[in-house]
Amino acid sequence: MTSVGALVVAAGRGERLGPGDPKALRVLGGTPMLVHAVRALAAASRVEHVVVAAPPDAVTVTRQLLAGEHGGASLVVVAGGAERPDSVRAALAALPDDVDVVLVHDAARPLAPSDLADAVADAVAAGCDAVVPVLPVVDTVKQVSGDKVVATVDRSTLRAVQTPQGFRRGVLEQAHREHRTGDGVEVTDDAGLVERIGRPVTVVPGHEDAFKVTRPVDLLLAEALLADRGRRSRADG
Ligand code: C5P
Repeated sequence: MTSVGALVVAAGRGERLGPGDPKALRVLGGTPMLVHAVRALAAASRVEHVVVAAPPDAVTVTRQLLAGEHGGASLVVVAGGAERPDSVRAALAALPDDVDVVLVHDAARPLAPSDLADAVADAVAAGCDAVVPVLPVVDTVKQVSGDKVVATVDRSTLRAVQTPQGFRRGVLEQAHREHRTGDGVEVTDDAGLVERIGRPVTVVPGHEDAFKVTRPVDLLLAEALLADRGRRSRADG
């Protein structure tokens, strides 16, 4: 029987959003982004355990914030690290031993639906080493050097990658063990580390609501989406 644990990395400062609290603790519709993210993961039918990597100076406040917000899933909050992979490693180390499928999710994608987490976990449980949700790229993409265009990339072969990403636990642990910081390669997701150890990464359809809140305009979009969800659920209820 597969046991699924979800790691939520929430230790980034989010400086591109402008001054203020760590990004994960910024409020959307009156509720911190991290709370939205944890609620959705804990509501996924496959997720049994949630581990949050919080800003090191906000571990206690994060625990208080999440008390009562994790449904039937267990919850542990640990201190994150200096870089995203450090935060993932800290959270991985706190997973219960029986977990064999691991989802890794950015708190900065607070509106990713529970169904997306289940779809990713299903694909790993069905035998994939690593699974990423993706969307087609809608913009034309050019490679540049300084202010000159070098080439136009064929966007039909490109995908924008989201989280939650899913992994067999042993594969994710090996990828992080073999990752050396300071080798000049920027690591922006966990699947990238898995690619570097030569393991296959499989794509599944992503979801538009799983966008990353990075710039101030993303906050406006997220607020509008939440308000729309509220209207729909009142109309249904
Ligand atoms: O900086 P970026 O937007 O790529 O961060 C993606 C996710 O990684 C965010 O949820 C952020 O909180 C998390 N992160 C972290 N520890 C860091 C840096 C980023 O948990 N040191």
